[in-house]
Amino acid sequence: MTNTTKIPFLDLITPHQELHAELLEVVEKVLSTAGFIGGPMLDAFEREFAHFCGAQHCVGVNSGTDALRFAFMAAGVQPGEIIVTVPHTFIATTEAISQAGAHIAFVDINESTYTMDPEKLREYLETKCDFNKQTGKLIERASKRPVFGIVPVHLYGQTADMDPIQELAARYNLIVVEDACQAHGAEYFSRRDNVWKKAGSMGHAAAFSFYPGKNLGACGEAGATTTNDEAMAKRMKMIRDHGQSKKYYHDIEGYNGRLDALQAGMLSVKLRHLAKWNEVRRDLARHYHDLFAEAHGYLVAPREASWTKGVYHLYVVRVPDREALQAHLANAGIGTGIHYPIPLHVQKAYQNLGYRQGDFPVTERVAAEILSLPMFPQLTTAQQKEVASAVIEFITSNVGPSR
Ligand SMILES: *Cc1c(COP(=O)(O)O)cnc(C)c1O
Repeated sequence: MTNTTKIPFLDLITPHQELHAELLEVVEKVLSTAGFIGGPMLDAFEREFAHFCGAQHCVGVNSGTDALRFAFMAAGVQPGEIIVTVPHTFIATTEAISQAGAHIAFVDINESTYTMDPEKLREYLETKCDFNKQTGKLIERASKRPVFGIVPVHLYGQTADMDPIQELAARYNLIVVEDACQAHGAEYFSRRDNVWKKAGSMGHAAAFSFYPGKNLGACGEAGATTTNDEAMAKRMKMIRDHGQSKKYYHDIEGYNGRLDALQAGMLSVKLRHLAKWNEVRRDLARHYHDLFAEAHGYLVAPREASWTKGVYHLYVVRVPDREALQAHLANAGIGTGIHYPIPLHVQKAYQNLGYRQGDFPVTERVAAEILSLPMFPQLTTAQQKEVASAVIEFITSNVGPSR
C-alpha cells in the first residue's frame, strides 16, 4: 500500500557521510589511547557545550533521561515530593521524576506554543496547594505532599515561557529543571531581564539528550546537564559516577551514568555545525510557513511567540483529520511522525496517578490533531515543495480549500 519513502521524516545518514573523516579521527584517537572513560575529550566537550548554552557548567551523562533524574537528585528531591510538569511531552520527562523518587503532577499546556501554560501552573500552585510560611514549603492540599520543583519542557525546539514560571518558582521556593532535550540552542527573550537567554542557562539545571535524532545527536546514547550552580554540578558529577568524590571514596550511592569519551569526541565534532544546522532548520520552517499560506484556514502551522527563537527540532502542524493526512502522505512516499499521540495522563503506566480523560483539554485536543512533517538540515526546498503540494492536494480534495 505504501510507496517506498521518497522523502524521509528524518535523514541520519547524510550528516554522518558529510562528517565521516572527522568522526573516524575521533574513533582512532580513542582506540589508540584507550581513553574510553573520562579524560580530555569529555572535558573538552563539557566545556564547549556549557559555552554553547551560555551556562557555567556541563556534566556529560549517558542519556537525557538520566540528565533529568540526576538534576532532580542533585537538587535534593525527597521521596514522595511533587515535581510538576506537562502531560504533553515524551515519557522520559516523567520517568525521570518517578526514578528520582518523586511524585508526578501535571498542568496543561498553552494552545499556541504547546509548552507549559504559566497561568495553569499558577492556578495549580495557588488553588491546589498551601504555602507554609514557617517551613517555606508549598504543600499540595489533597495529598499533603510538598511540591519540590517544576519541569518546563522546551518542546519541538521552542522554549517554554520561563519568566512567569521562574517567578512562581521563586515565590514558592521551587526548583526549576528545564527539559531542553529538544531545544539545543533555542533562545528565550526574558522580558523581566530584557535579554535573550539560551535554553539550558535559565533553570537551576537543565537536561539535554543527544539521542541520534535530536538537533545535536551522538552516534549512540548520550545526554548532559547544564547549570550555573557549581555545587549542583559537583553533585551531578558524583551521582553519574557511583557517588565518588574521588576514586573509591563513595560519599553517596550513585549510578553508572557517565558519558563515553567516544561519544563526547563525536559530539564535539558535530557541535561545531550545530548553530548553522539550527539556522537551516529555521529557514526551512519559514519556507514551510510560506508554502502553507493557502492552507492556513485548515492547517495550523507552528507559531513562534515573540519571546522565542525556536530551533525546530520538529515541525508540527495541526489538522482536524490527522490520520487521513498521514496515510495520504505515506502513500505519496513522505515520512511523518506524531509527537505524541497519547497524553501522559491517560497512559496505562500512569493510571495510578488518578487523572482522567478531560483533565487537560488543551493537551488532549492538540494530541489528536498534531502531525510532524519532515524536518532536518539536509531537507531540500524542492522536497519541502513536494511535501506542501501533497498536503494541499489532500486538503483541497477532502475538505475544500478552507474551513
Ligand atoms: C529525547 C527526550 C528525552 C530523553 O532523552 P534520552 O536521551 O532519550 O533519554 C526527554 N525529554 C524529551 C522532551 C525528549 O524529547
